[in-house]
Amino acid sequence: MIVIINPSEPRTSKAYQDTLKALKALPNVEVREHHIQGTEESVTEIYLLGATHHVSKENIEALPAVAKVIRISQQYKVLGRHDSNQPDLGFEYNGVKFNQDNLNVCAGLCAVDSRESVEAMMKALQQHGLTCTRMGAYKPRTSPYSFQGLGKACLDYIFDLAGKYDIKVIAMEVTHERHIDEIDETLERLGHPTGVMLQVGTRNAQNFELLRAIGNQTRYPILFKRGFGISLDESLNATEYLAHSGNAKVIFCLRGMKSLFGSPHRNLADFAHVPVIKRMTRMPVCIDPSHSVGSLDKSPEGINDVFHATAQGVIAGANLVLVDFHPEPAKAVVDAKQAIPLEQLGWYIDDIMIAREAFEKRKRLAEHQTS
Ligand code: PEP
Ligand code: MN
Repeated sequence: MIVIINPSEPRTSKAYQDTLKALKALPNVEVREHHIQGTEESVTEIYLLGATHHVSKENIEALPAVAKVIRISQQYKVLGRHDSNQPDLGFEYNGVKFNQDNLNVCAGLCAVDSRESVEAMMKALQQHGLTCTRMGAYKPRTSPYSFQGLGKACLDYIFDLAGKYDIKVIAMEVTHERHIDEIDETLERLGHPTGVMLQVGTRNAQNFELLRAIGNQTRYPILFKRGFGISLDESLNATEYLAHSGNAKVIFCLRGMKSLFGSPHRNLADFAHVPVIKRMTRMPVCIDPSHSVGSLDKSPEGINDVFHATAQGVIAGANLVLVDFHPEPAKAVVDAKQAIPLEQLGWYIDDIMIAREAFEKRKRLAEHQTS
């Protein structure tokens, strides 16, 4: 059961405290408070877990600070959408808004290889008015003999350069909780020139201890990549580990499923699930066309498959695009085949805008239908 508190009710008020006290007195019911800082307003939701089937919805609705009570299924208690009117779990981080209605782009390096690549990338982003990026410092690789990422050694110049080029949010995968400490320490020492969104890689989608560690902090929002060989239900339950641990600022990223049926693409693009995630949950939805497609082969029109896949996700209402670029793709040490050359950044953004405008038009068309 979710008890939604009146948005105008401060947590210090007598009405709120009396409500909380009454809920805590319910036998065999665990009470969990969730304060959600949305993009427009903050919402307090109180979750009643356990033996709630005997609890009367009407009695709870009569408590002084309560706006509404929703009975929830066992599924995805915090991040799930239990009522079509429930607010989404959008948030603002370091001045950038992420929600189920808008669109941001994190174009950047799959793996950081040098200060020069980072600088060229960020300079181009600034020239195109973009304030988010991706920078892989800790790389989970299939072979232990492959380049493992520069790790802590590259954080100083990534964050310094982000400050220089006004980059506000960097999506960065962490594969161990010690990486969060390294990010903390570096940002602190440099005076927080930028922000980081912690990325959970597809290979760690069910690394429950890592999920708990990442969910245990609220300094950084989280970009969760769907597990490539597990069911959607299993991936959504994994995101619930993050929220259950305390962090509901989670973006769900579709990145293609591992399947030989996806060939010749690297993975089978699953972007038809953009509206599905929005319907089933309250998380903003990201697409990663680079790791879905894996190459830059072109259609007869001269448009490469990563552009095409991006358009498919954006026209379906995606809220974030995570995409690999490189100033010299041939020299990229990880995933060189899928890195879009930096000089195509302007073209790529223009192409995204066409798909986004088409999505807006589709939304307006749907609003004018009577049934
Ligand atoms: C990545 O985004 O760098 C990455 C490794 O992606 P995934 O975890 O989806 O394979
Ligand atoms: Mn990669």
